[in-house]
Amino acid sequence: MSDPLPQRHWGLWMRLHEPVRIDLASRLAIHFWANIRMLQRPGVLLLSSVVSIVPTVVFSLAVVAFLGRVDPRRAGSWPWELGLVAAIAIWLIGQHLFFVYAMQRWYAPFVRREFGRAGMPMCERCGHRLPLARPAACPECGDALSTPQEPGRVSG
Ligand SMILES: [Zn+2]
Repeated sequence: MSDPLPQRHWGLWMRLHEPVRIDLASRLAIHFWANIRMLQRPGVLLLSSVVSIVPTVVFSLAVVAFLGRVDPRRAGSWPWELGLVAAIAIWLIGQHLFFVYAMQRWYAPFVRREFGRAGMPMCERCGHRLPLARPAACPECGDALSTPQEPGRVSG
């Protein structure tokens, strides 16, 4: 089974690009510069940050709303505690999924562009490794490569 690289942003784990064999120092340098360039884009930074904390905001609001309704005589009975454990589990899972989404959607293009700067061209849309002579379109996702792309752009 081929393992198609996603233009998909939702997933259990981050997959920023196809596997590459580079040493740790080079990998750290690529992520360092990807971070720097993302920091230079406040709009992208703000949007990705807001989206990545949605589950925590929702959970916090739910806790605040719930606390006002707790009947002290019933606090400590099992349904209440079970509900709390379930709510925390849903929150943590949701937080992980939203974080992966934000990284895949907004951070990944910066990383892919840095690989290109380091002489390892990559499709900024899907992370597919490209030959040095860039084709007109990504063979993996079909994204047009002839025009320069803005990392973090809104894409379908
Ligand atoms: Zn692609």
